[in-house]
Amino acid sequence: MAGPTNRVLSSTQQETLARLGEERTAAVGETLFEIGDETYPFIAIVEGEAAVEDAAGQEIVRHGASGFLGEMNLLSGQTVFLTAVVTAPMRYIAVDREDLRQLLFEDASLSDLLLSAFVQRRELLQQRQGIGIEIIGPRDSTETRRLLEFVRRMRTPYSWLDPAESEEAAALVAALAPEEIPLVRLPGGAELRRPGNGELSRALGIGLELGDGEEVDLLILGGGPAGLGAAVYGASEGLDTLLVESTVLGGQAGTSRRIENYLGFPAGISGTELTSRAVSQARKFRARTATPYRAEALTPADGDGRHTVLLEGGVEVKARAVLLSTGAEYRRLPVDDLEQYEGFSVFYAAGPPEAQLCGGQRVGVVGGGNSAAQAAVWLARGGALVTLLHRRADLAETMSHYLLDELERFGVAVRDRSEIAHLHGEDGQLEAVTLTDGERLPFSFLFLFLGAAPCTGWLGDCIARDPKGFVLTGAEAGARGLLETSVPGVYAAGDVRAGSIKRCATAVGEGAMVVRFVHEHLAPAAASA
Ligand SMILES: Cc1cc2nc3c(=O)[nH]c(=O)nc-3n(C[C@H](O)[C@H](O)[C@H](O)COP(=O)(O)OP(=O)(O)OC[C@H]3O[C@@H](n4cnc5c(N)ncnc54)[C@H](O)[C@@H]3O)c2cc1C
Repeated sequence: MAGPTNRVLSSTQQETLARLGEERTAAVGETLFEIGDETYPFIAIVEGEAAVEDAAGQEIVRHGASGFLGEMNLLSGQTVFLTAVVTAPMRYIAVDREDLRQLLFEDASLSDLLLSAFVQRRELLQQRQGIGIEIIGPRDSTETRRLLEFVRRMRTPYSWLDPAESEEAAALVAALAPEEIPLVRLPGGAELRRPGNGELSRALGIGLELGDGEEVDLLILGGGPAGLGAAVYGASEGLDTLLVESTVLGGQAGTSRRIENYLGFPAGISGTELTSRAVSQARKFRARTATPYRAEALTPADGDGRHTVLLEGGVEVKARAVLLSTGAEYRRLPVDDLEQYEGFSVFYAAGPPEAQLCGGQRVGVVGGGNSAAQAAVWLARGGALVTLLHRRADLAETMSHYLLDELERFGVAVRDRSEIAHLHGEDGQLEAVTLTDGERLPFSFLFLFLGAAPCTGWLGDCIARDPKGFVLTGAEAGARGLLETSVPGVYAAGDVRAGSIKRCATAVGEGAMVVRFVHEHLAPAAASA
């Protein structure tokens, strides 16, 4: 199978692109786009060749006739972090970013080819040093950890420099006040001093900036599978739909290495690809997505049929119906000094940067569920020596059978009845863990998959919840509809809902169902208007 870097366009696809784009020529040495550019066109090469380079001028790949230049940032809107230079005289078709997006909505085979190539190219870039943004901040700073966590979740290529470990980094921050650190250097040279997540995201050209006084039919809070499912169905069925996400679109599913049980993908699909496809689909139907905005308070409708949601930054949105799809957040390990290691050698998801970090290292994966198994297998395949630790007597009680086989196939050692009591290490770098029975295991990295708690603390008392904090719906909430909460016109779907089955497919299904209930809720209002 062709890799992400050497995929080619068929002659029919080239003709389609030629009808939409502009044919251009370029001589050897000419720059097609460069680091820091706000945007660039999709480039389909008819003749000739171009090299893609990083900031240091190191060549990453060359593309020739029938190949194409482009990466995830063509779809996300993110500023350019690579340079492309012509290496053999070129004739090419340049397609404007917006035109390409529109075409991908209409041409399924082109959409399949480009989307999977873009996702895989991004994964390869995430594994290279010296690409994308630079974060310069000390290891022991919570602000450094916040930014590292955010860029990882955004799947943005980045490098991190600790001023204590690099003279170059120390010189960059020498003149800054402590409250201006970490320093973030963007592709192209612009600098941000201790930026908020929203500020960084918008400086990179990602995400919609909301004005105050927005009013919509359906406001979706949380952009995981449930929220994205509702966005696709809501917008495609004529509702003015706004989806607000506190971090990065995709939710927990976006962090999954491989989802094997999602209907229609017999070979499995990575969480990034599944959720990127869903985001494109939602946008195709004109659902708007705004990130990163955290919902901070909900005030139920009071006579005018409009619920009010307060987002971080003081932005207020009014909506005739609200969907709570804020999912659940990973649980942390109850041990001392955990935060000292988080983001450096203790992680809650295993992606390409972590796999690269862990090659040839001893790694502990903690958890008895499928997500722990998927991560263990992914890390083992990347060359790590993986031990999976879990509390019960037998993994089969909590894990799917096909994953038990995979653990064995990729040489993952499994330790039953094992719980971690202490972490040992220095400056954020883990060296070993001690189990509750006193045994010490030399791990350099730890991945935690300990289940999740619902993201509902921000709701206060206005919505009925169960003792664990999950949102009650239907009869349990005294509501009329199956997915309606204790407040009419406010719904819950996916992992945040009490009694939900914690799976992608069920979350998507519930998100889709809610749209039907929203229509029923709004119909009497429309009739009386
Ligand atoms: C590593 C991993 C692997 C998995 N593998 C599989 C698998 O193979 N198959 C399968 O079926 N399931 C799998 N799951 C489970 C599946 O991903 C979840 O069941 C599914 O993502 C739930 O979707 P959701 O939309 O309800 O919530 P989530 O995916 O949790 O999304 C909720 C979103 O809401 C956002 N949010 C939270 N609070 C706020 C707020 N206040 N304001 C705005 N936004 C907010 C969060 O940032 C998040 O993006 C896996 C989970 C993990 C973690």
